[in-house]
Amino acid sequence: MELQDKRLQCVDCGTEFIFTVGEQLFFRDKRLVNEPKRCRECKAKQVSLLPPASVPASKRIDTPVVCSRCGRETTVPFIPKQGRPVLCRECFQSKRSTARFGVKRDAGLGAH
Ligand SMILES: [Zn+2]
Ligand SMILES: [Zn+2]
Repeated sequence: MELQDKRLQCVDCGTEFIFTVGEQLFFRDKRLVNEPKRCRECKAKQVSLLPPASVPASKRIDTPVVCSRCGRETTVPFIPKQGRPVLCRECFQSKRSTARFGVKRDAGLGAH
């Protein structure tokens, strides 16, 4: 069975393009059943339109917040939940250290 170049029409721009024997062999090799729907140009365009690879999980986010304890503007590396108090790093750490002694969170709000 001999393959021949096929003329296909691009679904995007309507231009006829050639589905070459080489490409047909490639498709067959990859067991692709669907013929290409777009001309080379539109295919290239489509690729460039694809959104960039998803943001890596390691990417830092910095959300500007106002510390609910000392009122200082700071950023946190997460998106705070609505209605939840957000503390700056210092307050967070002092809160943690006081919590260790079982002191109530609002107690001992001395000089910052
Ligand atoms: Zn096209
Ligand atoms: Zn604070």
